[in-house]
Amino acid sequence: MLTLGYMRCFWCDEEKEKLTADHIVPRALGGTLEFTVPACHSCQSILSKAEFEVSRKSSLAIAALAASLPPRHPNRPRSGHLQPTYLMVPHPYGGYGESLMSAGEKLSSLPYIEIKVVPDEPVEARIRGTAPADVQKLIDIFRGFLKAKRGPGELVCELTVSTDLDPKISADQEFWPRIIMLPGDRLMVRARDPEEAMRFCNVFMHIAVSEFQVNSGAWGEGTVIKGGTKHTIALSYNPQCVRRVAAKIGYGLFRAISGQRLQADLDEEMRQFILGRRDSEDEPVKEESERGTYTTNQDPHCVVISSEPDGLKAFVRLYGLHLRVDLGMEKSDLAPFGVICEIDGSGMRQASKEDILNALGEVDGMPFSHPWK
Ligand SMILES: [Zn+2]
Repeated sequence: MLTLGYMRCFWCDEEKEKLTADHIVPRALGGTLEFTVPACHSCQSILSKAEFEVSRKSSLAIAALAASLPPRHPNRPRSGHLQPTYLMVPHPYGGYGESLMSAGEKLSSLPYIEIKVVPDEPVEARIRGTAPADVQKLIDIFRGFLKAKRGPGELVCELTVSTDLDPKISADQEFWPRIIMLPGDRLMVRARDPEEAMRFCNVFMHIAVSEFQVNSGAWGEGTVIKGGTKHTIALSYNPQCVRRVAAKIGYGLFRAISGQRLQADLDEEMRQFILGRRDSEDEPVKEESERGTYTTNQDPHCVVISSEPDGLKAFVRLYGLHLRVDLGMEKSDLAPFGVICEIDGSGMRQASKEDILNALGEVDGMPFSHPWK
């Protein structure tokens, strides 16, 4: 393990009383304790937010799921949940199922109640979930809100409403607005627009205050989503977090192994970028131009630091996505070095000469750019 003998936070460069070991490659991406740096609580919490975006909400989170990785915390199975805005799949019995993706598991369906609330048409409802008890729980949670004591003028309850829907699903009459029970027993209403959400809530309120119970006798056998069924998934995340995490890995590794800093102002600028405090068009990280079309695979993450003719670079490959971190112009005498990190958290090691040659071969001639250009 690498330990640095000063009480300065590696990221903000301030002297702090308490420092903890920060994984250079985030734990959520498979990073282990071989490469850690001392970091203060404040920087740790800033960085862990960015790492959460990358490992649970970004396109890289899908890569992790495609690789069937187990959750990183065996005692907290929920630690592997992907957190998309939504994941919907046509339900074999009609409508759109609400699903959840978790690391190391199959797709599981979320409990929900959908109600057709088209004006001047009969109201119809569908009750869905893995088991009747799940949907009953959803209703009971809502009834719990209604029972809670409150003063005059106070809200009955506050529900998250999402109207951010794929245009194709929105145009489909088979989509009915719904109330969903998310992990952590949180309720959410999903509708095409606020007006439809209101109509839904009015009808759902009638169900909730009635004697209605979910009838387990009428519950069908488990439904199977056929292979080839199109899933619609919406991701919502800050793409700069992916570049910040890549910078953290590339820069962190360079400094931890070489014991050197970047030249002049660049060192400070890089750390400010990593901490999300620098918002400029001229970012030190570029992505391979074919962003979004990379193929997921089981290959380990790879980071190589190399002096290229146009400056010192860190090439970071995460689940097959290549990023380049520009580390400045100097250090041309530096021999290339790197690390290989298994994606399942089973360990990191220094890259062999062959690993380094392979990694540099992969990025040779690869166009890198800012994704928005
Ligand atoms: Zn700090």
